[in-house]
Amino acid sequence: MKKQTQVKDRLFELLVPQERISAAVDETAARINSDYAGKTPLFLCILNGSFIFAADLLRRITIPCTVSFVKYSSYAGTSSAQYIKNLIGVNEEISGKDVIIVEDIIDTGLTVSHLLEELAPKAPASVKIAAFCFKKEAFKGDYRIDYLGMEIPNRFVVGYGLDYDGYGRNLPEIYQVTNQ
Ligand code: 5GP
Repeated sequence: MKKQTQVKDRLFELLVPQERISAAVDETAARINSDYAGKTPLFLCILNGSFIFAADLLRRITIPCTVSFVKYSSYAGTSSAQYIKNLIGVNEEISGKDVIIVEDIIDTGLTVSHLLEELAPKAPASVKIAAFCFKKEAFKGDYRIDYLGMEIPNRFVVGYGLDYDGYGRNLPEIYQVTNQ
């Protein structure tokens, strides 16, 4: 039986163990280090969920870079948010910068679409997307994910920064909800 964990009133089972997470972050960082050699990208990390992925990824980045954060209306319960509100918007100078968006999970794709729209008028030199997880079946966006950790099934997940009603972000692995 797969390892299970209780978060609040729901039971979750192991989906991605720590070794797989670590290998995916290694690979993503290596690709960014190579693609951005000679450049100084700005990593724009989407709070709250990406804080652990961002911390792991950034410690593997060996080129000079800067880091900032944006925060949008949070995800409630087990269904994806339908609207986006800026809690912390883009406060950085973006013009001429090579921006890399860092997101924990892309589900419908709405959150990253919103950030892409916010960035476009600010004239960045380039914008790329690094996402740890991607629910391909739920995706409604029209953009490419440049650096992807892994595709996952279209199920609600917790851990590695992702929460269920505020809890479970501290789990070092990724767990998916069970039917129980
Ligand atoms: P999107 O806007 O792509 O639909 O969703 C992105 C945001 O929804 C993520 O930043 C994340 O906060 C939240 N989200 C999407 N799917 C899940 C999930 O399975 N579990 C958790 N905890 N959050 C999710």
